[in-house]
Amino acid sequence: MSWRSHGTTTNDSLIDALEANKLIKSPASVGKAMRKVDRKCYVLERDKSESAYRDHPLGIGANATISAPHMHAMCLELSREYLKDSEDGRGNGRVLDVGSGSGYLVACFAEMLLASSSSKEGAGNVVVGIEHIDSLVERSIKNLTEDGKGEMIKNGSITIVKGDGRLGYEASAPYALIHVGAAAPEVPSALLSQLASPGRLIIPVGGENESQSLMVIDKNEDGEIEYRDEMGVVYVPLTDEEHQLER
Ligand code: SAH
Repeated sequence: MSWRSHGTTTNDSLIDALEANKLIKSPASVGKAMRKVDRKCYVLERDKSESAYRDHPLGIGANATISAPHMHAMCLELSREYLKDSEDGRGNGRVLDVGSGSGYLVACFAEMLLASSSSKEGAGNVVVGIEHIDSLVERSIKNLTEDGKGEMIKNGSITIVKGDGRLGYEASAPYALIHVGAAAPEVPSALLSQLASPGRLIIPVGGENESQSLMVIDKNEDGEIEYRDEMGVVYVPLTDEEHQLER
């Protein structure tokens, strides 16, 4: 289906196509957020053309890719119910995006939290993107700024940190939602322990050249964990820096 969801020359046309093909099922939340995040700002200079609005993944340097829009849409649909007022009862949501790459999903999560937030500027929401490649950390901050998210970086509702995402990011835990944008051979225990109750972890699991499953892992109010295999997927590996750069 994805090949039918190309946009033309604008971000809105891409979102229109994803909605028409029911790859976005929730126009009022997922669609609305994706309309506020211009994919063109998150791709390399050479792709800042119609290519940015086609439903395909694109290389962003350092052997990483920005996922295809229909995959972003699917992950946002799966995240939706965890992007409301937060578990701490103060109206503040907490999200961790592991392997944040281009910064695209970090922006979408922040927009979805902002839309459900009682505070107008979304201050108090915390979306942390953790990425282990320096150049991607730098570029994602540039991308987010170019897309008008500089204020969110300033008020702390978006933070990009450099680090090994397999260890999560303890400083802002617990998270109502943890999304992992790269495939792990197994679920890192740090991510499970940094998940709030209730909370959801979305993570592709599988080896580098093996079949991978997108797992949806829910922790309930009592801390009990339930695993669901959502679908087969292909992601770049969640690995160490050296291994990624030599691939
Ligand atoms: N959602 C991102 C996906 C980027 S691809 C986007 O659409 O732009 C996956 C990312 O995971 C890459 O940027 C890669 O550098 C990063 N990554 C891989 N292993 C990692 C690790 N151990 N810690 C942090 N980031 C990692």
